[in-house]
This record gives sequence, structure tokens and C-alpha cells, in this order.
Amino acid sequence: MPKLHVKSYGCQMNVYDSNRMTDLLTRDAAYVETGDPEDADLIILNTCHIREKAAEKIYSELGRIRRLKRDAARAGRKLVVAVAGCVAQAEGEEIVRRAPLVDIVVGPQNYHRLPALLDKAASGAKVVDTEFPPEDKFDHLASATAAAIRARGVTAFVTIQEGCDKFCAFCVVPYTRGAEVSRPVAAIVAEVENLVSAGVREITLIGQNVNAYHGETTSGGRATLGQLLRRLAEVQGVLRLRYTTSHPRDVDEDLVAAHRDLAVLMPQLHLPVQSGSDRVLAAMNRRHTRSDYLDTIARLRGARPDIAFTSDFIVGFPGETEEDFRDTLRIVEDVGYAAAFSFKYSPRPGTPAADRGDQVREDVKTERLARLQSWIDRHQHDFNQTCIGRELDVLLEKPGRISGQLVGRSPYLQPVHVMAPTSLIGQIAAVRITAVGSNSLSGALHPSPGVAEQAVAGTGD
Ligand code: SF4
Repeated sequence: MPKLHVKSYGCQMNVYDSNRMTDLLTRDAAYVETGDPEDADLIILNTCHIREKAAEKIYSELGRIRRLKRDAARAGRKLVVAVAGCVAQAEGEEIVRRAPLVDIVVGPQNYHRLPALLDKAASGAKVVDTEFPPEDKFDHLASATAAAIRARGVTAFVTIQEGCDKFCAFCVVPYTRGAEVSRPVAAIVAEVENLVSAGVREITLIGQNVNAYHGETTSGGRATLGQLLRRLAEVQGVLRLRYTTSHPRDVDEDLVAAHRDLAVLMPQLHLPVQSGSDRVLAAMNRRHTRSDYLDTIARLRGARPDIAFTSDFIVGFPGETEEDFRDTLRIVEDVGYAAAFSFKYSPRPGTPAADRGDQVREDVKTERLARLQSWIDRHQHDFNQTCIGRELDVLLEKPGRISGQLVGRSPYLQPVHVMAPTSLIGQIAAVRITAVGSNSLSGALHPSPGVAEQAVAGTGD
């Protein structure tokens, strides 16, 4: 049976897409999965365009795969190479021109067509499919089998929305993933039920702009993300719900109320702000001000006082002054983030900010990033310290590196190490936190190895 190797780059949405491609191609035993590219008959690189020089990194990887293709040919085998994802969408035919070893280029909205594209490529044709298709790919994908779900663990991502209409000045997503599209409520509920019946206990709903969700209901109306969360909280066996990534402008009252009412909705929210300066936020086309953002944080804290926030920051956006940057440091202080990702601005071809003449010098960006990261680290450390001595509900996910140890996640998404039997994997246990590492917590089962039944009933932390 031919073997399939999928290599995934970038965000959770790509991990999800890679799983769906695998489910599609292993359906009816067309392929079996292999973790070893040397052994594969089909290699798919599921690419991401967010990071700097993303396309160049893929061309380097293709250079390494060229040897595998040559070796396979010498052994009388045909190795098919496909490039999928956002680099495929952005580069299109350029990929087969620069890397003739590539047989298939397929965009993120078209990968449901892979079986047909493979048939075409079998004749030796180069196949490029990056036009946004009229059909909905989700209608053509295979459900994951129980065995595949179990192999992936007790947590799962479910894409509920794709694309983005916000057009932030630094971002390629609206160009590579297209306009916002939401999946219908019934399709999401069915997928969640399938995952839960195979043992998944925590579902993270994902989308480029997840809280812009507006999926069709069975009665022909539209559901908000808050309404969808309420529906999913009713699915028997769902212990935890999360969602990411959100835009501050799309936090509506339904969503705030969901945080107030649903104990299975975890008290942690990734809410990127990017900058604390109104001038820079306007230049970024973020469509919200610093005070709008802080009001949103306050509304959510009013609804769920124990909620913790994480964020993304870009430093050195074109035109950013030292005063603007200090506003960013101040917003870190004002919110008190539990953690945050921060990056130096780097131009993405085709985005409005890339052509601005007031780019910030590289050494200035480097210095600001170091200051911001040490500021964020201090807040993360302070937040983690507040967990010491507390009893947190931890969803135990997998064995740790030490014999007898399990690793799970707290309600705030911190990794937690605890000595516990493997029979507890997939359950929520009460853990007394005793120590804090740089990026994780450790603790002891409390009061005894057992499930925190109240969490199953949905009391959260
Ligand atoms: S909201 Fe997010 S995905 Fe959409 S353009 Fe802005 S940064 Fe990109």
C-alpha cells in the first residue's frame, strides 16, 4: 500500500488541515501514514506564509526532497511531491517553475480535491490548483476514523471559520485564505460528536478570525460564536472548550455571556492587540483603539473574573516611535498578560505596510523586542507564581519524560507535570501546584488520584 508523509508548518489551522488531508487520503486504505519521508510515496508539505522568508524555507526543504525523489526513481518507485497551504496559494505556478520536482501545488481551499489531483499527476502532468473553488471543501472531506482520532490524543482542533475580511496592513491572510467563511452549526456539532465519541475531551475551535463566526443554523438563521459555544457545551463528554484566534472588535455580548455562563469554556483567551499605541493601531488598520481593547478586557473580566489573557505583539511597525513603543509596554502592564508572543515587524510582499517609506531600523526593532520580551516574561512569571499552592483542574493528556509522570494542561493552558497513572489520561484531575518552571508548572494529585468530578460537571478551575 502506498505511504503518505505530511509535514505541517505554522499554526493550528495547518495542523487541522494536515489531519484532514491525511483522513481523506487514508480513507478506503488508499494510503497509509508514515512518519518517515524516506519511506513515502507521497510527500505533502503543508506550508505557512506568516513567518519571514516562508517561501525560501520551503524551496530549501524541496532541495532536500529532490534527493529522496532521485533515490526513489533509482529504486523504481515514483515519489509524488505536493506543496499545499498558504505558500502554495501565494506562489502558485512559480513553485513548479523553480522546483520542477513538485508534482502538485494545491491551495488551502482546494485540498479536498487531492484524490483527483493525484490522478492527474499520475500521468506526469504538473497540477496547480489555487483558484478559490465554488464548492465548500468541508462537504467533500472524510471524517476521521476512531483509530486516527485516538492516535492524535485527547485534545483536538476543529476549524469553524476560515479567511478574514479585516485586512490588517501587515498580514497576508486575507490574500492567501480569502474572505471570511463560516461552517454550518450542524456540521461542527457532528464533527465534535465524532471526536468526543472516540475519546477527545477538549475541543479548540479555530479560525483566522474565529469570533467573526456566523455559521448557518438548521432553521436557516445565523449563529454567533457565543451561540455555537452554548450548543457545543451540551455535547455529552465535552469537558473543555476553547477558541482561537480572536479579533478584539468581534467580542460581542453573546461571547461575553458565554464566558459568564459556560463553565466548560476555559477561563483563558488569546486576544491579540499587536500594539498599545492608537497611532500605530490606526496605521495597522486594526479598527480598534487602545481604550476599546481595554474596555473589552474589562467586560470579559466582569463576566469571568478568573479569566487570563494572552496576546500577540508586533514591534517596529513602520513609523513606530519610542513613545508608541512605550504605549505597548504600558498595555502589557495594564492587562497583566499570562503570556504573549512578540515579533519584530517584517514586511510581507503584497501587504500595504511593506511599501511604506518609514520602516524602522533593524537594530531599533531588535532592542525594542528584547525590552518587550523581558517585560512580558516578568508578567508571565508573576502570573505563574500566583498558581503556586492553588489546586487547578488539569486535563491529563500524555506521558511525560520521566517514568510515571503525566503532562496535562491547566485551565489557563499552562503545561502541568504530575506523577499519575496512565489510566488518568483523558480525565481532569485536581492538582496542587508546587513549583513553577520557565514555561510549565508541576504539582501533585490532590487529594488523591481521582477525577475532579466537579470539572466533568463543568465547574472549571
Ligand atoms: S484580523 Fe488577523 S488574520 Fe485578519 S488581517 Fe488582521 S492579523 Fe490577519
